[in-house]
Amino acid sequence: MKELIVISGKGGTGKTSLTACLATLAEQCVIADCDVDAANLHLLLSPRVHHRTPFVSGEMAVIDETRCNQCGHCQQLCRFEGISPTPPYTILPSGCEGCRVCAHFCPQQAISMVPRQCGEWYRSVSSAGPMIHARINVGAENSGKLVSLFRQQARQLAEEQQSPWLLVDGPPGLGCPVIASVTGADAVLIVTEPTLAGQHDMVRIIDLLEHFSMTGYICINRWDINPEMTRTIRQIAEQRGVSCVGLIPFDRQVVSAQLKARPVIDQPDSIAAMAIKDLWDNVHAILSTP
Ligand code: SF4
Ligand code: SF4
Repeated sequence: MKELIVISGKGGTGKTSLTACLATLAEQCVIADCDVDAANLHLLLSPRVHHRTPFVSGEMAVIDETRCNQCGHCQQLCRFEGISPTPPYTILPSGCEGCRVCAHFCPQQAISMVPRQCGEWYRSVSSAGPMIHARINVGAENSGKLVSLFRQQARQLAEEQQSPWLLVDGPPGLGCPVIASVTGADAVLIVTEPTLAGQHDMVRIIDLLEHFSMTGYICINRWDINPEMTRTIRQIAEQRGVSCVGLIPFDRQVVSAQLKARPVIDQPDSIAAMAIKDLWDNVHAILSTP
């Protein structure tokens, strides 16, 4: 089983649309949506949920009303706006950071810490194959822990299904969730675009991959909006030993496919779809070579 992670330096580069297309082209694959903060792969792949599991991470405070005498000491100590400003004092889940200060100093021992439910994750069947995805609560952030859980579940599912491919829609940026999403994968596909910001982001991701001795490839989305910048980005990547496996042209059919909630690969006369097929052939050939 080959695990390919699709990442980009920021949102809006077409990473998720591309992942949906690759998953459709792969025919037999397991898909994991690790871009939990902006999870929208499900909008293109229409998953039917089979199993849902609460996702628990960290702790939050709870006040036992029967012991609390409303002294307000906890409210004064909390630095995170985790407790309502006026009596009756209650914990505000969106503010509580789980620091335990209030529990430690409450004179009535009325505060205890409980596991925090941050959302749910799902095991589903999508139009492109079995899929692991999630919905996290407002204010909860994607974390390396959640991404690691997803990848572990997705790998297990891929083994059960004897799937030759695991495709992961990774989180954007360079933080802990991205590191958790790329380590140990067979290859990372960096989606970039021909802008200075795209170039800058790509270089930072290549630095990260080098640090972890990971194999990376790039593809340039909407390459034809600035061919000169595309050439520059390609040169920089290739000088760093990162091959360009695809150039996807600007195509209005990408948006019309999104409006129909389908990957553009379903549009037979789309020039972007044709370029993505070539990209997949390249990736397939590279990763299938022993
Ligand atoms: S410090 Fe304890 S007793 Fe005082 S308001 Fe807070 S929870 Fe209630
Ligand atoms: S655990 Fe920390 S952040 Fe949460 S309510 Fe208590 S003092 Fe505030």
